[in-house]
Amino acid sequence: MKIFKFGGASVSSTEAIKNATSIIDLFPDKKVIVVSAMGKTTNELEELVKSYFNRASNMELILERIRNYHAGITTGLGLTDADLVQVEVLFADLKKRLSMNPSLNFDYEYDQVVCYGELISTAIISAYLNKQGLKSQWMDIRQSLRTDETHREAIVDWKWSEMLINNSFNFRDTDLYVTQGFIGSTNTNQTTTLGREGSDFTAAILGNLLNAESVTIWKNVPGVLNGDPVDFEDTVKLEELSYREAIELAYSGAKVIHPKTIKPLRNKKIPLLVRPFDFPDQAGTMIHDVDHQLDLVPIFILKKNQALVTISPSDFSFIGIDQLSGVFSLFKKRRIKVNLIQQSAIDLSLCIDEPEVGLETLVVELRKKFDVLYNTGLILATIRFYDEDALIKMKNNRQLFLEQKSRRTARLVLK
Ligand code: ASP
Ligand code: MG
Repeated sequence: MKIFKFGGASVSSTEAIKNATSIIDLFPDKKVIVVSAMGKTTNELEELVKSYFNRASNMELILERIRNYHAGITTGLGLTDADLVQVEVLFADLKKRLSMNPSLNFDYEYDQVVCYGELISTAIISAYLNKQGLKSQWMDIRQSLRTDETHREAIVDWKWSEMLINNSFNFRDTDLYVTQGFIGSTNTNQTTTLGREGSDFTAAILGNLLNAESVTIWKNVPGVLNGDPVDFEDTVKLEELSYREAIELAYSGAKVIHPKTIKPLRNKKIPLLVRPFDFPDQAGTMIHDVDHQLDLVPIFILKKNQALVTISPSDFSFIGIDQLSGVFSLFKKRRIKVNLIQQSAIDLSLCIDEPEVGLETLVVELRKKFDVLYNTGLILATIRFYDEDALIKMKNNRQLFLEQKSRRTARLVLK
């Protein structure tokens, strides 16, 4: 049994869905297909929920846009009203929800609205597969993927989910399930989401709990490359990677795989394949339990929109554990991700994701105890398997704020 995951880009148009369908058809295995919301629908739904929560007047307009986009696709696929009964029900449910007054909890409302992206995309794709004669069963994953109540960043309840998922995805009546990435639900049946771009993680959870033989993520790239082609010319595809390498890359900011995806697969030694949806006969990249030394080229990963904050105690004292824990809980409270730390006797530098709302309020708080300097608009470059040439290439004409090197990895904060 295999898990295939199709992200937003691979189901963003009539053509893309036809292509995904032909890929599904190409493999005779039993499969679970995990699908994201189509194209940029999640962004649109984020706008919609903001408008709903603030009772803004453009709500109808956004909803109409989302409807029209999906209608364009279903028309292109030749689906009739009879094929789309479930899709209509989902849009009606969404509309009904939006006609009720929102609670005071934004994150909760977010999950109740944004989940429709995945519910609708899977309903359309399942209908299309059936129409093409590929008998598929649509599954509402919320009935079996159980989480806690941390809305927008829910934590998976592995015990419950294991039992429920194995009950639901039992392959008794079908060889092909179609289900949603990114969403789950609490024990009291409130919808939750796993964090943006969380569909890869869903595929990995299902792979782990159902003991799949492999998980394949179909993407618009040839595989895992040694750099993002948007930022670098002459990128090369990596044939294989160890789980360890993959987790380092994902954590450093390589966008091709969601960082949470690797662990569930590593723990059961299930291979993760990243393959190009435009060339389904190409092998892509295999992430697996590598038993030989990999000879890898330098791999470049850039994290943009970084800020470097340097703090030192105002009274010239050393930075101790107590102060460190105070600083880190402040970042945690504000959900700010710290990507790199450097400490000296009296100062501490932190490279962080620049918050959308800016750094001012954070700095005000820090200045109660520390002298604070900061720079924004930086990039954090990570180079795995760096060599001199790679460092020169990366530093090229950029201002260097901080450099950290271990045996295999160099990290540079640059402008
Ligand atoms: N649709 C969700 C998002 O765009 C989940 C995903 O695509 O993985 O964040
Ligand atoms: Mg997406």
